[in-house]
Amino acid sequence: ERHAPDGTLLSTLTSFFSITASPRSESSGNNWSFTRLMGFSFIASLLQNQHLVDSAKLLVLGTLIETGRRLCQWLMERFQLQYCITAQFDEGDPAYEWIVLFLTQENVWRRSRDFRVNAKNSQRKWGIQAEHEVDGNADYVPTYEMPQLFRWKGYWVEIKRNKNARQWTSPAGPRTLATMIISIYTLDMNVLSSLVAEARTRYQETSRPNVTVHMADMPSYGPGFVWSSVKHKARRPLSSIILMEGVLESLVKDAQEFIDTEDWYTEAGIPYRRGYLLYGPPGTGKTSTIYALAGELGLEIFALPLSSGFVDDAYLQKAASSIPKNSILLIEDIDCAFPSRDDADEGDGPNYQQENHGMVSNSPFPRGRKSAVTLSGLLNVLDGIGSEEGKLFFATTNYVDKLDPALLRPGRIDKKIQYKFATQSQASALFRRFFGRSPTLPTIDSSSDEKTAALPPSSIGAQAQTFASSVPEHEFSTAELQGFLLRHKKDPAGAVACIGAWVSQELTE
Ligand code: ADP
Repeated sequence: ERHAPDGTLLSTLTSFFSITASPRSESSGNNWSFTRLMGFSFIASLLQNQHLVDSAKLLVLGTLIETGRRLCQWLMERFQLQYCITAQFDEGDPAYEWIVLFLTQENVWRRSRDFRVNAKNSQRKWGIQAEHEVDGNADYVPTYEMPQLFRWKGYWVEIKRNKNARQWTSPAGPRTLATMIISIYTLDMNVLSSLVAEARTRYQETSRPNVTVHMADMPSYGPGFVWSSVKHKARRPLSSIILMEGVLESLVKDAQEFIDTEDWYTEAGIPYRRGYLLYGPPGTGKTSTIYALAGELGLEIFALPLSSGFVDDAYLQKAASSIPKNSILLIEDIDCAFPSRDDADEGDGPNYQQENHGMVSNSPFPRGRKSAVTLSGLLNVLDGIGSEEGKLFFATTNYVDKLDPALLRPGRIDKKIQYKFATQSQASALFRRFFGRSPTLPTIDSSSDEKTAALPPSSIGAQAQTFASSVPEHEFSTAELQGFLLRHKKDPAGAVACIGAWVSQELTE
Protein backbone atom coordinates (compact mmCIF):
# COMPACT_ATOMS: atom_id res chain seq x y z
CA GLU A 1 0.00 0.00 0.00
CA ARG A 2 2.89 2.27 0.83
CA HIS A 3 4.39 1.91 -2.68
CA ALA A 4 1.17 1.84 -4.67
CA PRO A 5 0.82 5.59 -5.30
CA ASP A 6 4.49 5.86 -6.17
CA GLY A 7 4.15 2.93 -8.60
CA THR A 8 1.21 4.56 -10.36
CA LEU A 9 3.09 7.75 -10.72
CA LEU A 10 6.13 5.87 -12.01
CA SER A 11 4.20 4.27 -14.86
CA THR A 12 2.57 7.59 -15.77
CA LEU A 13 5.93 9.29 -15.91
CA THR A 14 7.41 6.42 -18.03
CA SER A 15 4.65 6.68 -20.62
CA PHE A 16 4.95 10.50 -20.68
CA PHE A 17 8.67 10.36 -21.41
CA SER A 18 8.32 7.60 -24.03
CA ILE A 19 5.57 9.52 -25.93
CA THR A 20 7.42 12.83 -25.95
CA ALA A 21 10.80 11.27 -26.86
CA SER A 22 11.50 11.93 -30.60
CA PRO A 23 15.27 12.11 -31.37
CA ARG A 24 16.24 14.70 -34.00
CA SER A 25 19.61 13.13 -34.70
CA GLU A 26 21.28 10.10 -33.29
CA SER A 27 23.83 11.84 -31.08
CA SER A 28 21.60 14.69 -29.94
CA GLY A 29 18.79 12.17 -29.46
CA ASN A 30 20.95 10.11 -27.14
CA ASN A 31 21.78 13.24 -25.03
CA TRP A 32 18.13 14.26 -24.89
CA SER A 33 17.03 10.81 -23.75
CA PHE A 34 19.78 10.73 -21.20
CA THR A 35 18.73 14.11 -19.69
CA ARG A 36 15.11 13.04 -19.58
CA LEU A 37 16.07 9.78 -18.00
CA MET A 38 18.05 11.60 -15.31
CA GLY A 39 15.15 13.97 -14.57
CA PHE A 40 12.75 11.08 -14.49
CA SER A 41 14.86 9.04 -12.11
CA PHE A 42 15.41 12.11 -9.89
CA ILE A 43 11.67 12.75 -9.52
CA ALA A 44 11.04 9.06 -9.05
CA SER A 45 13.63 8.88 -6.27
CA LEU A 46 12.03 11.91 -4.60
CA LEU A 47 8.65 10.23 -4.63
CA GLN A 48 10.10 7.03 -3.33
CA ASN A 49 11.68 8.88 -0.37
CA GLN A 50 9.15 8.23 2.37
CA HIS A 51 10.63 10.88 4.75
CA LEU A 52 10.16 13.58 2.20
CA VAL A 53 6.56 12.61 1.60
CA ASP A 54 5.87 12.55 5.34
CA SER A 55 7.43 16.03 5.71
CA ALA A 56 5.24 17.36 2.94
CA LYS A 57 2.19 15.93 4.64
CA LEU A 58 3.24 17.56 7.93
CA LEU A 59 3.72 20.87 6.16
CA VAL A 60 0.20 20.75 4.78
CA LEU A 61 -1.20 19.70 8.16
CA GLY A 62 0.66 22.51 9.98
CA THR A 63 -0.59 25.08 7.49
CA LEU A 64 -4.14 23.86 8.00
CA ILE A 65 -3.84 24.04 11.82
CA GLU A 66 -2.35 27.57 11.76
CA THR A 67 -5.05 28.76 9.38
CA GLY A 68 -7.66 27.25 11.72
CA ARG A 69 -6.09 28.94 14.73
CA ARG A 70 -6.07 32.33 13.03
CA LEU A 71 -9.63 31.84 11.96
CA CYS A 72 -10.68 31.03 15.56
CA GLN A 73 -8.77 34.07 16.85
CA TRP A 74 -10.44 36.27 14.26
CA LEU A 75 -13.84 34.89 15.21
CA MET A 76 -13.09 35.39 18.94
CA GLU A 77 -12.08 38.99 18.32
CA ARG A 78 -15.30 39.61 16.36
CA PHE A 79 -17.22 37.94 19.19
CA GLN A 80 -15.45 40.00 21.86
CA LEU A 81 -16.11 43.22 19.99
CA GLN A 82 -19.78 42.45 19.77
CA TYR A 83 -20.52 40.57 22.98
CA CYS A 84 -18.28 42.04 25.63
CA ILE A 85 -17.58 45.32 27.38
CA THR A 86 -13.97 46.33 27.78
CA ALA A 87 -12.67 48.87 30.28
CA GLN A 88 -9.17 50.19 30.76
CA PHE A 89 -7.73 51.21 34.14
CA ASP A 90 -4.53 53.22 34.10
CA GLU A 91 -1.98 53.06 36.87
CA GLY A 92 -1.92 56.45 38.55
CA ASP A 93 -5.68 56.78 38.43
CA PRO A 94 -7.40 55.97 41.75
CA ALA A 95 -9.67 53.43 40.02
CA TYR A 96 -6.60 51.31 39.18
CA GLU A 97 -5.98 50.76 42.89
CA TRP A 98 -9.60 49.75 43.42
CA ILE A 99 -9.41 47.14 40.66
CA VAL A 100 -6.12 45.68 41.88
CA LEU A 101 -7.57 45.21 45.36
CA PHE A 102 -10.78 43.82 43.88
CA LEU A 103 -8.80 41.17 41.97
CA THR A 104 -6.93 40.34 45.14
CA GLN A 105 -10.16 39.78 47.02
CA GLU A 106 -11.69 37.78 44.17
CA ASN A 107 -8.71 35.45 44.47
CA VAL A 108 -7.85 35.90 40.81
CA TRP A 109 -4.22 36.10 41.88
CA ARG A 110 -4.34 32.39 42.81
CA ARG A 111 -4.27 31.47 39.13
CA SER A 112 -1.26 33.72 38.53
CA ARG A 113 2.10 32.25 37.77
CA ASP A 114 3.99 35.55 37.49
CA PHE A 115 4.63 37.75 40.51
CA ARG A 116 6.58 40.90 41.14
CA VAL A 117 8.41 40.59 44.43
CA ASN A 118 9.29 43.72 46.37
CA ALA A 119 10.98 44.01 49.73
CA LYS A 120 8.25 44.85 52.20
CA ASN A 121 7.81 48.55 52.73
CA SER A 122 5.39 50.76 54.56
CA GLN A 123 3.93 52.28 51.40
CA ARG A 124 2.68 49.01 50.02
CA LYS A 125 0.45 48.85 47.04
CA TRP A 126 -2.40 46.43 47.10
CA GLY A 127 -1.41 42.99 46.02
CA ILE A 128 -1.80 39.58 47.56
CA GLN A 129 0.16 40.77 50.52
CA ALA A 130 -2.86 42.33 52.20
CA GLU A 131 -4.53 39.12 53.25
CA HIS A 132 -2.31 36.43 51.85
CA GLU A 133 1.19 36.94 53.03
CA VAL A 134 3.42 34.20 51.79
CA ASP A 135 6.20 35.37 54.02
CA GLY A 136 6.87 38.39 56.15
CA ASN A 137 9.77 39.80 54.18
CA ALA A 138 8.35 40.61 50.81
CA ASP A 139 5.23 41.69 48.94
CA TYR A 140 4.14 39.37 46.14
CA VAL A 141 2.18 41.30 43.57
CA PRO A 142 0.68 39.32 40.66
CA THR A 143 1.61 40.79 37.29
CA TYR A 144 -1.53 39.48 35.50
CA GLU A 145 0.40 39.56 32.26
CA MET A 146 -1.23 36.38 30.98
CA PRO A 147 -4.98 36.93 30.54
CA GLN A 148 -6.94 35.45 33.46
CA LEU A 149 -10.57 34.45 33.26
CA PHE A 150 -12.86 34.36 36.29
CA ARG A 151 -16.56 34.37 37.17
CA TRP A 152 -18.11 37.35 38.93
CA LYS A 153 -21.83 37.35 39.78
CA GLY A 154 -22.47 34.89 36.95
CA TYR A 155 -20.50 36.83 34.31
CA TRP A 156 -17.25 35.78 32.72
CA VAL A 157 -14.61 38.43 33.25
CA GLU A 158 -11.21 38.49 31.60
CA ILE A 159 -8.34 40.46 33.03
CA LYS A 160 -5.08 41.41 31.39
CA ARG A 161 -2.36 43.79 32.48
CA ASN A 162 0.01 45.59 30.18
CA LYS A 163 2.96 46.59 32.30
CA ASN A 164 4.54 49.03 29.85
CA ALA A 165 1.44 50.79 28.63
CA ARG A 166 2.78 54.29 29.22
CA GLN A 167 6.22 55.71 29.77
CA TRP A 168 7.14 58.91 31.51
CA THR A 169 10.04 60.61 33.20
CA SER A 170 10.01 61.24 36.92
CA PRO A 171 12.70 63.04 38.92
CA ALA A 172 14.00 59.59 39.82
CA GLY A 173 14.38 58.61 36.14
CA PRO A 174 12.25 56.99 33.44
CA ARG A 175 9.22 55.05 34.62
CA THR A 176 6.64 52.87 33.00
CA LEU A 177 3.03 52.78 34.02
CA ALA A 178 0.81 49.76 33.67
CA THR A 179 -2.70 49.45 32.36
CA MET A 180 -5.28 46.89 33.44
CA ILE A 181 -7.83 45.83 30.84
CA ILE A 182 -11.03 44.19 31.98
CA SER A 183 -13.43 42.50 29.54
CA ILE A 184 -16.83 41.41 30.78
CA TYR A 185 -18.80 39.05 28.54
CA THR A 186 -22.07 40.90 28.55
CA LEU A 187 -23.74 43.75 26.69
CA ASP A 188 -25.10 45.33 29.87
CA MET A 189 -23.11 48.45 30.81
CA ASN A 190 -24.57 48.29 34.32
CA VAL A 191 -22.47 45.20 35.02
CA LEU A 192 -19.30 47.20 34.47
CA SER A 193 -20.45 50.13 36.60
CA SER A 194 -21.55 47.85 39.43
CA LEU A 195 -18.18 46.07 39.29
CA VAL A 196 -16.37 49.41 39.57
CA ALA A 197 -18.73 50.57 42.37
CA GLU A 198 -18.12 47.36 44.28
CA ALA A 199 -14.37 47.67 43.78
CA ARG A 200 -14.45 51.20 45.23
CA THR A 201 -16.59 50.19 48.21
CA ARG A 202 -14.28 47.30 49.03
CA TYR A 203 -11.26 49.60 48.71
CA GLN A 204 -12.80 52.07 51.14
CA GLU A 205 -13.73 49.33 53.59
CA THR A 206 -10.30 47.75 53.44
CA SER A 207 -8.54 51.07 53.91
CA ARG A 208 -10.80 52.17 56.75
CA PRO A 209 -8.25 51.45 59.50
CA ASN A 210 -5.89 53.76 57.60
CA VAL A 211 -6.05 57.12 55.95
CA THR A 212 -5.27 56.83 52.27
CA VAL A 213 -3.19 59.72 50.98
CA HIS A 214 -2.54 60.09 47.26
CA MET A 215 0.36 62.36 46.44
CA ALA A 216 0.58 64.07 43.07
CA ASP A 217 3.77 63.46 41.17
CA MET A 218 5.57 64.98 38.20
CA PRO A 219 3.23 65.26 35.23
CA SER A 220 3.25 62.45 32.75
CA TYR A 221 4.74 63.28 29.40
CA GLY A 222 2.12 61.07 27.84
CA PRO A 223 -1.63 61.44 28.19
CA GLY A 224 -3.30 61.08 31.56
CA PHE A 225 -2.70 62.56 34.96
CA VAL A 226 -0.81 60.60 37.56
CA TRP A 227 -1.46 60.30 41.28
CA SER A 228 1.50 58.03 41.37
CA SER A 229 2.18 57.59 45.03
CA VAL A 230 -0.28 56.20 47.57
CA LYS A 231 0.34 56.02 51.30
CA HIS A 232 -1.77 54.24 53.84
CA LYS A 233 -1.22 56.03 57.12
CA ALA A 234 -2.45 54.82 60.47
CA ARG A 235 -5.71 56.55 61.37
CA ARG A 236 -5.22 59.23 63.97
CA PRO A 237 -7.95 59.58 66.60
CA LEU A 238 -9.61 62.97 66.76
CA SER A 239 -8.98 63.03 70.49
CA SER A 240 -5.24 63.18 69.82
CA ILE A 241 -5.63 66.64 68.27
CA ILE A 242 -5.46 69.32 70.90
CA LEU A 243 -7.14 72.53 69.79
CA MET A 244 -9.16 75.28 71.42
CA GLU A 245 -12.39 73.90 72.76
CA GLY A 246 -15.11 73.23 70.19
CA VAL A 247 -12.96 73.98 67.11
CA LEU A 248 -12.45 70.39 66.06
CA GLU A 249 -16.00 69.33 66.84
CA SER A 250 -17.48 72.13 64.74
CA LEU A 251 -15.21 71.26 61.81
CA VAL A 252 -16.13 67.56 61.90
CA LYS A 253 -19.82 68.41 62.22
CA ASP A 254 -19.65 70.79 59.27
CA ALA A 255 -17.90 68.27 57.01
CA GLN A 256 -20.25 65.45 58.01
CA GLU A 257 -23.25 67.64 57.35
CA PHE A 258 -21.89 68.49 53.91
CA ILE A 259 -21.48 64.81 53.05
CA ASP A 260 -24.98 63.99 54.25
CA THR A 261 -26.78 66.77 52.41
CA GLU A 262 -26.00 66.24 48.74
CA ASP A 263 -29.70 66.17 47.85
CA TRP A 264 -30.26 69.47 49.59
CA TYR A 265 -27.50 71.14 47.56
CA THR A 266 -28.95 69.71 44.34
CA GLU A 267 -32.48 70.85 45.15
CA ALA A 268 -31.32 74.32 46.19
CA GLY A 269 -29.23 74.61 43.01
CA ILE A 270 -26.08 75.32 45.02
CA PRO A 271 -22.79 73.83 43.80
CA TYR A 272 -22.08 70.78 45.91
CA ARG A 273 -18.62 71.52 47.24
CA ARG A 274 -17.13 73.00 50.36
CA GLY A 275 -13.86 74.76 50.99
CA TYR A 276 -11.92 75.04 54.25
CA LEU A 277 -8.87 77.13 55.01
CA LEU A 278 -6.72 76.22 58.00
CA TYR A 279 -4.26 79.00 58.69
CA GLY A 280 -1.72 79.81 61.35
CA PRO A 281 1.92 79.21 62.28
CA PRO A 282 3.66 75.94 61.46
CA GLY A 283 3.46 73.06 63.90
CA THR A 284 0.07 74.02 65.32
CA GLY A 285 -1.79 70.98 63.98
CA LYS A 286 -3.30 72.03 60.64
CA THR A 287 -2.21 68.96 58.68
CA SER A 288 -2.85 66.63 61.61
CA THR A 289 -6.42 67.93 61.80
CA ILE A 290 -7.06 67.08 58.14
CA TYR A 291 -5.64 63.57 58.57
CA ALA A 292 -7.74 62.94 61.66
CA LEU A 293 -10.88 64.29 59.98
CA ALA A 294 -10.30 62.12 56.89
CA GLY A 295 -9.89 59.08 59.13
CA GLU A 296 -13.02 59.89 61.08
CA LEU A 297 -15.20 60.39 58.00
CA GLY A 298 -13.56 57.66 55.88
CA LEU A 299 -12.39 60.06 53.14
CA GLU A 300 -9.36 59.70 50.91
CA ILE A 301 -6.92 62.61 50.67
CA PHE A 302 -5.45 63.82 47.37
CA ALA A 303 -2.56 66.12 48.20
CA LEU A 304 -1.11 68.57 45.70
CA PRO A 305 2.27 70.02 46.65
CA LEU A 306 2.08 73.45 45.02
CA SER A 307 5.53 74.36 46.25
CA SER A 308 7.10 71.48 44.34
CA GLY A 309 7.33 73.61 41.22
CA PHE A 310 5.82 71.33 38.60
CA VAL A 311 2.18 72.21 39.28
CA ASP A 312 0.74 74.72 36.83
CA ASP A 313 -2.84 75.68 36.00
CA ALA A 314 -3.41 72.85 33.54
CA TYR A 315 -1.99 70.29 35.94
CA LEU A 316 -4.12 71.62 38.79
CA GLN A 317 -7.25 71.45 36.66
CA LYS A 318 -6.48 67.89 35.60
CA ALA A 319 -5.70 66.87 39.17
CA ALA A 320 -8.93 68.30 40.54
CA SER A 321 -11.05 66.63 37.90
CA SER A 322 -9.44 63.22 38.40
CA ILE A 323 -10.42 62.99 42.07
CA PRO A 324 -13.39 60.79 42.95
CA LYS A 325 -16.43 62.18 44.66
CA ASN A 326 -16.45 62.59 48.45
CA SER A 327 -12.72 62.92 48.70
CA ILE A 328 -10.51 65.66 50.05
CA LEU A 329 -8.44 67.78 47.70
CA LEU A 330 -5.66 69.14 49.89
CA ILE A 331 -3.46 72.03 48.88
CA GLU A 332 -0.86 72.78 51.49
CA ASP A 333 0.87 76.14 51.61
CA ILE A 334 -1.64 77.63 49.24
CA ASP A 335 0.15 80.95 49.45
CA CYS A 336 2.76 79.37 47.14
CA ALA A 337 0.18 79.40 44.41
CA PHE A 338 0.75 82.83 43.05
CA PRO A 339 3.84 84.08 41.30
CA SER A 340 2.98 87.53 42.60
CA ARG A 341 4.17 86.68 46.09
CA ASP A 342 7.58 87.89 47.05
CA ASP A 343 9.09 84.46 47.13
CA ALA A 344 12.63 85.56 46.37
CA ASP A 345 13.09 86.66 49.97
CA GLU A 346 10.76 84.34 51.77
CA GLY A 347 10.66 81.18 49.71
CA ASP A 348 13.95 79.94 51.03
CA GLY A 349 13.76 81.80 54.32
CA PRO A 350 13.72 80.40 57.82
CA ASN A 351 9.94 80.09 57.94
CA TYR A 352 10.02 77.55 55.19
CA GLN A 353 12.97 75.72 56.62
CA GLN A 354 11.35 75.08 59.97
CA GLU A 355 8.08 73.78 58.47
CA ASN A 356 8.95 70.18 58.55
CA HIS A 357 5.94 68.67 60.16
CA GLY A 358 3.47 68.46 57.33
CA MET A 359 2.84 65.89 54.66
CA VAL A 360 4.51 67.91 51.98
CA SER A 361 7.75 67.61 53.85
CA ASN A 362 7.68 63.93 52.88
CA SER A 363 7.72 64.97 49.26
CA PRO A 364 10.98 64.52 47.36
CA PHE A 365 10.58 68.02 45.99
CA PRO A 366 12.18 71.01 47.65
CA ARG A 367 9.85 73.38 49.49
CA GLY A 368 9.52 77.05 48.98
CA ARG A 369 9.75 77.09 45.22
CA LYS A 370 7.41 79.34 43.37
CA SER A 371 4.48 77.54 41.81
CA ALA A 372 3.34 78.18 38.27
CA VAL A 373 -0.30 78.20 39.37
CA THR A 374 -2.04 81.53 38.88
CA LEU A 375 -4.82 82.97 40.97
CA SER A 376 -7.31 82.65 38.12
CA GLY A 377 -6.26 79.03 37.55
CA LEU A 378 -6.89 78.27 41.19
CA LEU A 379 -10.20 80.13 41.25
CA ASN A 380 -11.35 78.19 38.18
CA VAL A 381 -10.73 74.95 40.02
CA LEU A 382 -12.46 76.15 43.16
CA ASP A 383 -15.43 77.34 41.14
CA GLY A 384 -15.72 73.87 39.72
CA ILE A 385 -14.93 74.59 36.09
CA GLY A 386 -13.79 71.32 34.59
CA SER A 387 -14.01 69.46 37.85
CA GLU A 388 -16.68 67.24 39.26
CA GLU A 389 -18.60 68.33 42.31
CA GLY A 390 -18.84 66.60 45.68
CA LYS A 391 -15.36 67.33 46.94
CA LEU A 392 -14.08 68.83 50.13
CA PHE A 393 -11.34 71.30 49.43
CA PHE A 394 -8.82 71.91 52.21
CA ALA A 395 -6.07 74.47 52.04
CA THR A 396 -3.46 75.33 54.63
CA THR A 397 -1.24 78.38 54.88
CA ASN A 398 1.11 80.03 57.29
CA TYR A 399 0.56 83.40 55.60
CA VAL A 400 -3.11 84.15 55.40
CA ASP A 401 -2.39 87.85 54.77
CA LYS A 402 -0.84 86.98 51.43
CA LEU A 403 -3.99 85.38 50.11
CA ASP A 404 -6.10 87.32 47.67
CA PRO A 405 -9.53 88.25 49.07
CA ALA A 406 -11.08 86.71 45.93
CA LEU A 407 -9.87 83.33 47.11
CA LEU A 408 -11.40 83.72 50.54
CA ARG A 409 -14.88 84.49 49.25
CA PRO A 410 -17.66 82.17 50.52
CA GLY A 411 -18.32 79.48 47.93
CA ARG A 412 -14.60 79.11 47.49
CA ILE A 413 -13.53 79.07 51.12
CA ASP A 414 -16.61 78.46 53.26
CA LYS A 415 -14.96 78.01 56.63
CA LYS A 416 -11.74 79.51 57.95
CA ILE A 417 -10.09 78.12 61.05
CA GLN A 418 -7.30 79.94 62.76
CA TYR A 419 -4.51 78.00 64.48
CA LYS A 420 -2.42 79.72 67.10
CA PHE A 421 0.58 78.92 69.21
CA ALA A 422 -0.37 76.79 72.20
CA THR A 423 -2.32 78.15 75.13
CA GLN A 424 -1.61 76.92 78.64
CA SER A 425 -4.71 74.76 78.54
CA GLN A 426 -3.40 73.12 75.34
CA ALA A 427 0.00 72.57 76.98
CA SER A 428 -1.75 70.94 79.93
CA ALA A 429 -3.88 68.74 77.68
CA LEU A 430 -0.79 67.69 75.72
CA PHE A 431 0.99 66.73 78.95
CA ARG A 432 -2.03 64.67 80.02
CA ARG A 433 -2.13 62.91 76.66
CA PHE A 434 1.52 62.04 77.04
CA PHE A 435 1.52 60.73 80.58
CA GLY A 436 -2.05 60.23 81.66
CA ARG A 437 -3.20 57.60 79.24
CA SER A 438 -3.07 53.86 79.42
CA PRO A 439 0.10 52.42 77.85
CA THR A 440 -2.07 50.31 75.53
CA LEU A 441 -3.56 53.37 73.82
CA PRO A 442 -1.97 54.45 70.56
CA THR A 443 0.98 56.76 71.01
CA ILE A 444 0.50 60.46 70.30
CA ASP A 445 2.97 60.51 67.48
CA SER A 446 2.85 57.43 65.28
CA SER A 447 6.55 57.80 64.52
CA SER A 448 7.32 56.97 68.14
CA ASP A 449 6.92 53.33 69.06
CA GLU A 450 8.13 53.58 72.63
CA LYS A 451 5.46 53.57 75.32
CA THR A 452 5.30 56.64 77.50
CA ALA A 453 5.04 56.48 81.27
CA ALA A 454 1.44 56.54 82.57
CA LEU A 455 0.62 58.26 85.85
CA PRO A 456 -2.45 57.94 88.08
CA PRO A 457 -5.08 60.61 87.23
CA SER A 458 -4.67 62.59 90.47
CA SER A 459 -0.95 63.17 90.15
CA ILE A 460 -1.11 63.71 86.37
CA GLY A 461 -3.62 66.56 86.77
CA ALA A 462 -1.40 68.38 89.26
CA GLN A 463 1.76 67.86 87.22
CA ALA A 464 0.05 68.95 83.99
CA GLN A 465 -1.02 72.13 85.74
CA THR A 466 2.51 72.89 86.97
CA PHE A 467 3.93 72.09 83.54
CA ALA A 468 1.43 74.36 81.76
CA SER A 469 1.98 77.25 84.17
CA SER A 470 5.64 77.36 83.07
CA VAL A 471 4.69 77.60 79.37
CA PRO A 472 3.93 81.18 78.31
CA GLU A 473 0.70 81.60 76.32
CA HIS A 474 1.00 81.74 72.52
CA GLU A 475 4.78 81.45 72.38
CA PHE A 476 5.36 77.86 71.34
CA SER A 477 3.73 75.63 68.78
CA THR A 478 2.17 72.36 69.91
CA ALA A 479 4.81 70.60 67.78
CA GLU A 480 7.60 72.31 69.74
CA LEU A 481 6.05 71.32 73.08
CA GLN A 482 5.57 67.80 71.76
CA GLY A 483 9.25 67.74 70.80
CA PHE A 484 10.21 68.77 74.35
CA LEU A 485 7.94 66.14 75.96
CA LEU A 486 9.30 63.42 73.69
CA ARG A 487 12.71 63.99 75.24
CA HIS A 488 11.19 63.19 78.64
CA LYS A 489 8.67 60.61 77.58
CA LYS A 490 9.53 58.21 80.35
CA ASP A 491 9.97 60.88 82.99
CA PRO A 492 7.00 63.20 83.62
CA ALA A 493 8.59 64.63 86.77
CA GLY A 494 11.72 65.43 84.73
CA ALA A 495 9.56 67.18 82.11
CA VAL A 496 7.99 69.36 84.83
CA ALA A 497 11.38 70.09 86.36
CA CYS A 498 13.04 71.02 83.05
CA ILE A 499 10.31 72.98 81.31
CA GLY A 500 11.23 76.32 82.91
CA ALA A 501 14.85 76.13 81.78
CA TRP A 502 13.83 74.99 78.30
CA VAL A 503 11.38 77.89 77.91
CA SER A 504 13.99 80.48 78.97
CA GLN A 505 16.54 78.97 76.63
CA GLU A 506 14.14 78.93 73.67
CA LEU A 507 13.01 82.51 74.29
CA THR A 508 16.55 83.84 74.41
CA GLU A 509 17.63 82.05 71.21
P1 ADP B 1 1.06 72.15 60.78
O1 ADP B 1 0.33 71.49 59.67
O2 ADP B 1 0.25 73.21 61.45
O3 ADP B 1 2.41 72.66 60.39
P2 ADP B 1 1.21 69.50 61.85
O4 ADP B 1 -0.19 69.07 61.91
O5 ADP B 1 2.01 69.02 60.69
O6 ADP B 1 1.32 71.07 61.92
O7 ADP B 1 1.90 69.06 63.22
C1 ADP B 1 3.27 68.71 63.34
C2 ADP B 1 3.46 67.76 64.52
O8 ADP B 1 3.06 68.39 65.72
C3 ADP B 1 2.65 66.50 64.40
O9 ADP B 1 3.46 65.42 64.79
C4 ADP B 1 1.52 66.66 65.38
O10 ADP B 1 1.30 65.45 66.04
C5 ADP B 1 1.99 67.70 66.35
N1 ADP B 1 0.94 68.69 66.62
C6 ADP B 1 0.93 69.97 66.20
N2 ADP B 1 -0.17 70.59 66.60
C7 ADP B 1 -0.88 69.70 67.30
C8 ADP B 1 -2.13 69.76 67.99
N3 ADP B 1 -2.85 70.89 68.00
N4 ADP B 1 -2.55 68.65 68.62
C9 ADP B 1 -1.82 67.53 68.59
N5 ADP B 1 -0.64 67.41 67.98
C10 ADP B 1 -0.17 68.48 67.33
